[in-house]
Amino acid sequence: MILSAPPFLLNLKSACLTISQELPQETRVASFDLAGRLWTAMSGGAAFRRGLDGKIIAKWGAAEIRQRRSLPPDDTQQLLLETSQMAASALAALPPSSDSLLRQVLEAAAAFTPERAAADAGQFRQVYSPIGILPPDHYTALVLQAASGCPFNTCTFCSFYKSRPFHVKTPPELADHIRAVKSYLGRGLSLRRTLFLGDANALSIPMPQLMAQLEVIHRHLDVPALGGLYAFCDGFSGEQKSYQDYAALVQAGFQRTYIGLESGSPDLINLLQKPGTPQEAIRAVRRMKEGGLAVGVIILLGAGGQAYSRRHVAESIAALNAMPLDQDDIVYFSELVETEEGPPTARNAFKSSLRPLSPDACQEQAHQIEEGLVFTGGSTPHISRYDIRDFIY
Ligand code: SF4
Repeated sequence: MILSAPPFLLNLKSACLTISQELPQETRVASFDLAGRLWTAMSGGAAFRRGLDGKIIAKWGAAEIRQRRSLPPDDTQQLLLETSQMAASALAALPPSSDSLLRQVLEAAAAFTPERAAADAGQFRQVYSPIGILPPDHYTALVLQAASGCPFNTCTFCSFYKSRPFHVKTPPELADHIRAVKSYLGRGLSLRRTLFLGDANALSIPMPQLMAQLEVIHRHLDVPALGGLYAFCDGFSGEQKSYQDYAALVQAGFQRTYIGLESGSPDLINLLQKPGTPQEAIRAVRRMKEGGLAVGVIILLGAGGQAYSRRHVAESIAALNAMPLDQDDIVYFSELVETEEGPPTARNAFKSSLRPLSPDACQEQAHQIEEGLVFTGGSTPHISRYDIRDFIY
C-alpha cells in the first residue's frame, strides 16, 4: 500500500514500512520492520543499516570507492532520533481514515527512540548469543541458534566464537529459544526471509539430534513459508553424513549449506589450522549434491599472503572443479580482512601472512580463480563477493 501524506510518501509492504520525506536538499528515507524497529535509512548522502543487536553500519560514496564504518554511539543516537521524529511527523500528517496497520506500525516507529532502541537491543541479547556471521544471502534470515559456538574453534583467521563453548541445544531448549525469538520479534518476524540454523557448522550436529531439532522447528514455525532451512557446515563434518542423510534433511526443509573451503591447498589449510582437508570437503559436497542439497562454497582470498598465492589459486581451482556445482549453488569469494574487533589471534593471523595481499591483489586472485573454473554439468553456479565487514544482524 502506497499512501501520500505530504511531504511524506508511505509504502507499507508485508515485510516493512518505508517512509520517504522530500526535503529541499535531499530525499530522506527510513524503513522499519512491522514492530517499528529501524532497519535501513538514507540521509545526508549515506545509507545506513541497523542490526537487531543495535549496531548500525553506514556506507557512502560511489560503488568503486565505497566507504563504510560502524556508527559510534553519538551518531547512532542522532540517526535514531531523526528517524523516530520522521515517523512521528508522518503519523501526524496521516489522514484520520488511514489503514489501522499502517497507523500501528507508524506509532511503533515513532516510539523507536534511542532509548527504546537500546532496550530492544538489550532484549535481543537476552534471546541470542552474539551472531558471528551469516552468508550475505541470509542477512535478513530468521536465525535459530540450534547450537552455540563452533565445535572446532581452531582456525587462526576466525574470531567469531572463541569466547563460548560449543553446545547443541536439546529439543526443549530449542523450543524455549524459538518461543523467545518469536516473542521478541513480534510483527518484525515478517521481515525475515529464510531460516538459518546457527551457529557455526550447525549441519555438523549428528543426525538423530538434528532430526529431533527439525521436528521442534516444524512444530513452531512454517518452514516453507519462511523460505526453507540453511546452515553452515565444515567439509570435515560434512563427510560424516551419507547422501541419504542429506536427502532426509532436504525432505525436512533444508535448501542449502555453506562450506568454508577457504582454499583447495591442503598446506594452506594446515597453516590456517582449519580442521579437515579439501578432499574431505569435495567428498562432502558430492554427497550433499547427490542428496539434493545445494551448497555455497566460500574461498578465502588472500589467505597465506604472497607466499601461498599461486598454490592457493591453482589448488582452489582444482578443488572447485572437482565439485559437481550447478545453478543452485554459490561460490563466494571472501577477502581475509583484519577487523578492529577481532582478538589478537585473528589480528596476528592476518599479520603473520608475512606479505599480505592488497585488496586489489585479492580481487585479482578471485579473478584468476574464476577464470580457471570449468563447469561441465551444463549450468553454472552463482559467483559472488562476500565482505564480512558488511555483516550485522
Ligand atoms: S572458520 Fe569455521 S570451523 Fe574455523 S573456527 Fe571459525 S567457525 Fe569454526
